[in-house]
Amino acid sequence: MSDIGHFIGNARVPGRSGRSAPVTDPATGEQAGTVALAAEDEVDAAVAAAAAAFRDWSRMPPLRRARILDAFKAILSARMGDLARVISSEHGKTHEDALGEVTRGLEVVEFAIGAPSHLKGEFTENVGTGVDSHALRQPLGVVAGITPFNFPAMVPMWMFPVALACGNTFVLKPSERTPSAALLLAEWLAEAGLPAGVFNVVQGDAAAVDRLLAHPDVKAVSFVGSTPVARHVYVTGTANGKRVQALGGAKNHAVILPDADMEMVAGALMGAAYGSAGERCMAISVAVPVGEETADRLIAALVPRIEALRVGPASDPATEMGPVVTRAHLERVRALVARGAEEGARLVADGRDFTPPQGFEGGNYIGATLLDGVTPEMDVWKQEIFGPVLSVVRAADARHAAEIVARHEYGNGVAIFTRDGQAARLFAQEVEVGMVGINVPIPVPMAFHSFGGWKASLFGDHHMHGPEGVRFYTRLKTITSRWPGGPAAAAEFGMPVLG
Ligand code: NAD
Repeated sequence: MSDIGHFIGNARVPGRSGRSAPVTDPATGEQAGTVALAAEDEVDAAVAAAAAAFRDWSRMPPLRRARILDAFKAILSARMGDLARVISSEHGKTHEDALGEVTRGLEVVEFAIGAPSHLKGEFTENVGTGVDSHALRQPLGVVAGITPFNFPAMVPMWMFPVALACGNTFVLKPSERTPSAALLLAEWLAEAGLPAGVFNVVQGDAAAVDRLLAHPDVKAVSFVGSTPVARHVYVTGTANGKRVQALGGAKNHAVILPDADMEMVAGALMGAAYGSAGERCMAISVAVPVGEETADRLIAALVPRIEALRVGPASDPATEMGPVVTRAHLERVRALVARGAEEGARLVADGRDFTPPQGFEGGNYIGATLLDGVTPEMDVWKQEIFGPVLSVVRAADARHAAEIVARHEYGNGVAIFTRDGQAARLFAQEVEVGMVGINVPIPVPMAFHSFGGWKASLFGDHHMHGPEGVRFYTRLKTITSRWPGGPAAAAEFGMPVLG
């Protein structure tokens, strides 16, 4: 049993609020540790450490900050396996999947190492006679990251590499269900040479989040999690004068036109719907085949693949899909599947029948589930299930399919499968969704682009990482200068006009 505490000023700090939560191993259902839940004064201690470190860190040349991140990247690359094992032990995802998330995070570190280039400003000579103007971007101060359980390493790494590279200091509040990865990242940053206080971790729940949202020294908040909490973080943070980007939930559709390559579609949907037990904000949870014949071919292609899917603990290298994160989440997913059947959906594959392997009877397992005949009136379509459940909504034609996608409150990701370039192009142009895949099921932008959804999937103006990340974590300053010795300036009492 491990005691999981905070990381403040480059040292592990035990919790002292008297509040804690159990951390369980999803593969067995057994408690593996206890995570401290910070009280206000512990959050304040982390913010104070970050505030004290800001002056020196923000004045360090970007090239030197980048070199520290480069050293961190080398440590992370060498120890990816260790981090992946910690992720799997608290989240339940397979080792390969955990390695994949670390790689996607590492790519953001690689992007952030380009800070000297990203922070280059603009200069205009002679905006007026003898007058020059330059614009530069400066860091904000202490910024906070609040992250979900499903990507304990990647989502924090969407945030802090860019924030630190830009000269900010950081307080991370990870999910209390998967808290340990953040501490490894913090230790490795310190080992790479990051000065004390530049990166801190406070473990906690809503109380810690609410303190970060109220703290006057926190200048910006990056949030990723469910939509109700994202909305709360955005409304409260902005009311308190902070810059906020809050990414929320998702219900990602895959539209399948009749000319699609069905082998390609079935393979892609298996990974996108059931990979990571469906606990990805970019998971495909709704398939929208166009035409009855396409729908029947899709179901026929999926069923044998679902039957062959290997479900089990991450410790078994043959496992393709692990358990869901907690017993409570398992019960919620099971209840939603039952609700779908009550509402009239056809249970083509019912993962509730799954029998866990011997020795893992207490784990949070549910097999891959396929519901056909789902309609936009049903709760299984409206709600984000966040489990291995794929709903099939049959569309009469391409326009109907687009209408189904448009009706949903979320707009995180969407995919279209077709051989028709013009149809795909029009779909991508019209759809109100932030990330679009064309024959690509999980269109997660690379680190040097930016990640974010539309509608109820994102509150705020900036997506994460890439150029949008640099803009979010910096503010613009424009300096206009004139030097003695140039053309003499007479006193001006009207609005100054250069020329
Ligand atoms: P969650 O909203 O329950 O928790 C996210 C964070 O908010 C955690 O750190 C948690 O401690 C904190 N929190 C929870 N309740 C709170 C409250 N009432 N007040 C203040 N803070 C609170 O989300 P989760 O279950 O950890 O993660 C799954 C959700 O995250 C899904 O909805 C998923 O779609 C979403 N997600 C979105 C993206 C994206 O990029 N849009 C990426 C990953 C996950």
